Amino acid sequence: MTAVDRANEEGVLSRLRRGEGAVWINDRRTPSSRPTPPIDVAGAEGRWRRFAPVLAALFPEAGWDGQVRSPLVDFPGEALLVKCDHALPMTGSIKARGGVHEVLFVAEGLGLEAGLIERGGGDYGVLASDAARGLFARSRIMVASTGNLGFSVGLVARALGFQVEVHMSADAKRWKKERLRALGAKVIEHDADYSHAVASARGVAGATGAYFVDDEYSPALLAGYATAARELADQLSERGVSISLRRPLHVYIPCGVGGAPGGVTYGLKAIFGEAVRCFWAQPAASACMIAALAAGDGRAVSVQEIGLSGRTAADGMAVPRASDLVLDLAGHMVEAIVALHDAEMQAWVRRAWRVAGLRLELSGAAGLAAVDRVRRDLGLQSADAVNVAWTTGGALLPDSEFQALL
Ligand SMILES: *Cc1c(COP(=O)(O)O)cnc(C)c1O
Repeated sequence: MTAVDRANEEGVLSRLRRGEGAVWINDRRTPSSRPTPPIDVAGAEGRWRRFAPVLAALFPEAGWDGQVRSPLVDFPGEALLVKCDHALPMTGSIKARGGVHEVLFVAEGLGLEAGLIERGGGDYGVLASDAARGLFARSRIMVASTGNLGFSVGLVARALGFQVEVHMSADAKRWKKERLRALGAKVIEHDADYSHAVASARGVAGATGAYFVDDEYSPALLAGYATAARELADQLSERGVSISLRRPLHVYIPCGVGGAPGGVTYGLKAIFGEAVRCFWAQPAASACMIAALAAGDGRAVSVQEIGLSGRTAADGMAVPRASDLVLDLAGHMVEAIVALHDAEMQAWVRRAWRVAGLRLELSGAAGLAAVDRVRRDLGLQSADAVNVAWTTGGALLPDSEFQALL
């Protein structure tokens, strides 16, 4: 690290401590030497295809083909595209990729073991049958969540027939807990932060033999997120947009523990290499990626350890520690991390609704807010780049919640 980098780093940390937003430029561009488990992106893509008829049967909304895909739209009046994961089918958040994929991974394993389906394809429709429900009802899936992961895992796991237990952190919104209970999931409320809820759920799962969807350390979760990369690449080429070093792709993604942005970045780097630059956006008060990369020597440290409060209204990203798996896998791939005020995200919730008709929750708008801050703080000339802001949640917000945000 050069003296300039170090000064820059100190500057960013003290800005965060003063409650100001900032952009931290990643100086850790060398891969971690710690071994990581393989992330099987191609395997996940095949799994989505095999399960599409199962999901279509479980969620028979008008005309849905069971594919978990989101539109890529233009943001009116800006040279900006929006990848609309806030409107993903079933769950209305990006967790429909990671969390749901891991549930399908578990269901497939049990189905194969019981001889309901055969390896390498055939008819997966049987996994939506009563026979399969009887099988899945004997297993319990556990997860810890600030809301959206629990809802996504709970919704699909309950639809397949699994028992579900969700450990919620204190930041989780009431309506997210109520929705889960209505699905027949057991909801345990913790009066503590997300890392605590994860550790507690992991402990219970280990002791009872339940399957634990581990937001801090799951390769299947990351593989599910990573499949979004090919989807985006195909949508860009359908629009006739070609990406190259001279016309790079800049992607702005909200970041909590890092699973969603880490998985997407991993997938995009495999396709576009140096021609894609990924920016992750976090609330300034819980900038756990900056804590890990700038102050933690590439290991997760809690934001309280660097003097931040951890308090943010952006519940989807209200996590005090980053995922070590994501740090090892994609910590060297991220270009910069953008720390945002809650007020900046809120302004973009309003603007996205008014200008583009996008229904976002606070966390879901962080990618949009990050584009602005990178332009302002880095003076990044992005005229030659193709800019994509990832919206990550909000389509299912109840009206009263959404009106309150506006
Ligand atoms: C979970 C979530 C994120 C962040 O994802 P991580 O995997 O925790 O980094 C961002 N936005 C929304 C709406 C989310 O639900």
